[in-house]
Amino acid sequence: MRAISIEQVNPSSYDAIIAGSGAGGLLTALVLTAEGKKVLVLEKSSRLGGVWHSYWVNGYRVDNGLHVITRVKRGAFTRFMRNYLPSPPEFVLHDGWYFRVYDKVGTIPTSVGETLRWPLTDFRGRLGLAKIGAKIKTMKLDEMKKYKDISFLEFMQSKNAMNQVVLDVMQSAIYMAAGVGINEASAYESLRTLKDTDKESGKLEQIKRLLFGTGDYDEGYVIGGMESLIKNVIEAINGDYVLNAPVEQIHESGGKVTGLTISGLHIEHSLIISNIPLWDMDKIVDSTLGRVNEFFARWNSMQPTQGVTLWLGLDEVVIGDRKNRVLVHPNPNRWIVSLSSFDPSCAPNGKELVGVAMMAIPGKTIEEHVDIMKGNGFEEYYPEILQHIEMEHVQSSYATRAALIPGQTDLDRPGPRTPIQGLYIVGTDTAGSGVGLQQAANSAEGVISALRQDSFI
Ligand SMILES: Cc1cc2nc3c(=O)[nH]c(=O)nc-3n(C[C@H](O)[C@H](O)[C@H](O)COP(=O)(O)OP(=O)(O)OC[C@H]3O[C@@H](n4cnc5c(N)ncnc54)[C@H](O)[C@@H]3O)c2cc1C
Repeated sequence: MRAISIEQVNPSSYDAIIAGSGAGGLLTALVLTAEGKKVLVLEKSSRLGGVWHSYWVNGYRVDNGLHVITRVKRGAFTRFMRNYLPSPPEFVLHDGWYFRVYDKVGTIPTSVGETLRWPLTDFRGRLGLAKIGAKIKTMKLDEMKKYKDISFLEFMQSKNAMNQVVLDVMQSAIYMAAGVGINEASAYESLRTLKDTDKESGKLEQIKRLLFGTGDYDEGYVIGGMESLIKNVIEAINGDYVLNAPVEQIHESGGKVTGLTISGLHIEHSLIISNIPLWDMDKIVDSTLGRVNEFFARWNSMQPTQGVTLWLGLDEVVIGDRKNRVLVHPNPNRWIVSLSSFDPSCAPNGKELVGVAMMAIPGKTIEEHVDIMKGNGFEEYYPEILQHIEMEHVQSSYATRAALIPGQTDLDRPGPRTPIQGLYIVGTDTAGSGVGLQQAANSAEGVISALRQDSFI
């Protein structure tokens, strides 16, 4: 893709216009390229990628957030990278999750045997976990759907599974995935996260997993960070992009999309794919049709997740392993990863880049979040990190545009189509199972399949 100015745009030379260049928009453009199409990407800000982003701070390359790639072996996002990039990136798997509850550390037990030896709770707690763990691992997707409108905590209450340590560890796992705590997260989405599958497996396979576990982590980081991923994606797309080009209006006439307006300039087109957050679309779509306005009004109160990430550059290697550590207690949950152990290119030679992430606590300032992250148990359990800090950088952003709460589960989302012919929507609030980049890739897959069905490709 090449950068052009808005004055250089010749709408008839493009097969589609993509409004917004977040992961959903760019991944859609990547597939359209493979289909032989040419796209125009219009982006409001001064760079491409949306919240999918990296940059350098004092010699350290920081991603926007701890960008762990979920489902490296079997997910839609890595499938996009493998299928549509000329040289797919290399992913490094992590060594598993290590949950710390005060001075005890345990991984996620993946089998009954492991559960019964779990160090984080007493024997009664382990028995309770084995029971609820077996229930969740063997639950069918259809049964999970019944719990979409209650919280995970309510689900656990209904199953009488109220061991506090078990709840606290589940809280930290679900926190990272859903962007909210277990008292808010939809039970359906939480159950899917904990079961870690969208596909049903056979009875025998389920029993085998239950007894012997999987021991199979499918999450990791990408060599080169988000910076290299986005760069490769942008290079592979056929088309042009315009930066600092906020789409002000998308026009409808006779039930069809006719074009859009930027800085008073009208650009005509009959195929627009919008990656603009759904909460803004009712202000942007210009239509007199009641069903169109009702459709977009329904999504204008989508609640995003909000995360805070603290990057620490250390003057020597202190952690040096590929574990994903979660500090469950003392509260609140924090997630600690040594990024340079996956990809040394993100830190100067002999030094270490550590990321610490947590969900934002409403009402607290950024400084208060940093104090919480660096204090509150961190100084007790990871003091060596604090003694070697030479670079400190903090970020705050929405990670995903729809938190996985009741009313915003993948079953509640609008999907890729709108009531306007030729106007499609893509992004982490429109559809798709999974979280973050997986969700963006799933939503892009949804748009592509709708475009196929509607004979646009
Ligand atoms: C802190 C943090 C941690 C994360 N961690 C992970 C992780 O561990 N694993 C993972 O898979 N994912 C993670 N993600 C999530 C992932 O990066 C995002 O979910 C995904 O990139 C969002 O894609 P999106 O398609 O919803 O678009 P967005 O990123 O929301 O992009 C929308 C784009 O539209 C543009 N736009 C808005 N309005 C207009 C307009 N009117 N006209 C033109 N353009 C407009 C915006 O400027 C933006 O570029 C994380 C993100 C953050 C921020």
